[in-house]
Amino acid sequence: MIYKCRNCQFEEARGCLPVTSCGLYMLFLMGIATFLLTAAVRMVRLYLRGDVPHQQSDFGWWSLLQIPPIILLGFVMIFVAALVLDFMLSLIEYLVFVLRKCPKCGSRRWSFGFTRGFGL
Ligand SMILES: [Zn+2]
Repeated sequence: MIYKCRNCQFEEARGCLPVTSCGLYMLFLMGIATFLLTAAVRMVRLYLRGDVPHQQSDFGWWSLLQIPPIILLGFVMIFVAALVLDFMLSLIEYLVFVLRKCPKCGSRRWSFGFTRGFGL
């Protein structure tokens, strides 16, 4: 990501996160988020199944109506989880690079990492 010195406006690209807003990177994060959410849901279901036996729904084909909201909620949760992951990775990269000196003015006042423009 790009970091800007808040003292002299010097900009520098550092770290391994992309310097542009990148769709493939977002898809990568959403894949990781899907994996983590699926693992969490499976663990919760495994935990709950120990107490209550799995029940069949009594609503017949009407229970199919719950599928679209569940899919929509799943996409929203995956997107939010990807944003949280992105923030955590940005925070780690920021904490790694925040203590170095600016090569131009020597101060240690860096902005939070940001991206510029759009990439693939
Ligand atoms: Zn500077």
